[in-house]
Amino acid sequence: MEKREMLYEGKAKRVYATDRSDQLLVSYKDDATAFNGLKKGQIAGKGAINNRMTNFLMKKLEQQGIPTHLVEEVSDTDTLVKRVTIVPLEVIVRNIAAGSLSKRLGLPEGTPMGHTVLEYCYKDDALGDPMVNEYHIAAMGWASEEEMRLIADYALRINDFLRSYLKDLGVDLIDFKLEFGRLMDGTIVLADEISPDTCRFWDSKTGEKLDKDRFRRDLGGVEDAYREMMKRLMGA
Ligand code: UDP
Repeated sequence: MEKREMLYEGKAKRVYATDRSDQLLVSYKDDATAFNGLKKGQIAGKGAINNRMTNFLMKKLEQQGIPTHLVEEVSDTDTLVKRVTIVPLEVIVRNIAAGSLSKRLGLPEGTPMGHTVLEYCYKDDALGDPMVNEYHIAAMGWASEEEMRLIADYALRINDFLRSYLKDLGVDLIDFKLEFGRLMDGTIVLADEISPDTCRFWDSKTGEKLDKDRFRRDLGGVEDAYREMMKRLMGA
C-alpha cells in the first residue's frame, strides 16, 4: 500500500488517498478539541491509543456481525480503511444522563434512564451539529428510512455488546457517538472511531471519568485516563 495525497484534515485525524481507489489511510493525531473547536490542546499519546482502541473494538464488533470500515492497522497511529461516503449524522447512544442531555433536560449527570436513548445530530460544524430527528433526516435526504432502520439497529447492538464488554472491565459506558458510511455498493458500515474522545467511560466502582471530559472540563489526569482505558481493554 502506498500513501498518497492528504484528502482531508479533521480535528483529530488526517485522511490520505492510497494507491487503492477503494481504500484510504487514516492517521490519528494527538490534537484535541472541544466545544466545537473553541478549546484546543494536545493529549500526548492519544493518536496511538485512539487508533489501537478503535481497531480493537471494531474487530470485536465485526465478530458480532457488525460491518465496519476497518481493513488493517498499519502502524500505532495509522489504519487502512474502506473508502465510504459518510452519512452526515452523529449517532449518539445514551445509557445514563450526562453532557448535553443533562443540560437540556435538567437531569443531574449520572441519572439512570428507563431505557437507552438514541439521538441524531446533523454533522455541520458551522451550525454546531444541531440535533435532528428521523423526519428531518428523511426530508433532507441524508439517509433513507431503510438505512436509518439499519443504523439504529446497529447502534443498539453495538451498545449492547460494548456495554457488557466494558462492564466486565469495571467500566460503565455512559454514552457515545458513532458515524456510519456507505461503501460504493451502498452497504452501510460503521466508520470513524470508538475511543475516549467519542465515549463517556466511568469507572464502575469510583465513578472516575476515563474519557475526554477530563480535557473538556480541565479535570487533569487526561493522559492517564486514556492510558488506563487502553490498559483495561488491551492490557498495555
Ligand atoms: N460526542 C462526540 N463528538 C461530538 C459530540 C459528542 O464524540 O461532536 C460524544 C461525546 O464524547 C459523548 C456523547 O457523544 O460521549 C454525547 O455527547 P453530548 O451530546 O453529551 O455532548 P457534549 O456534552 O460532549 O458536548
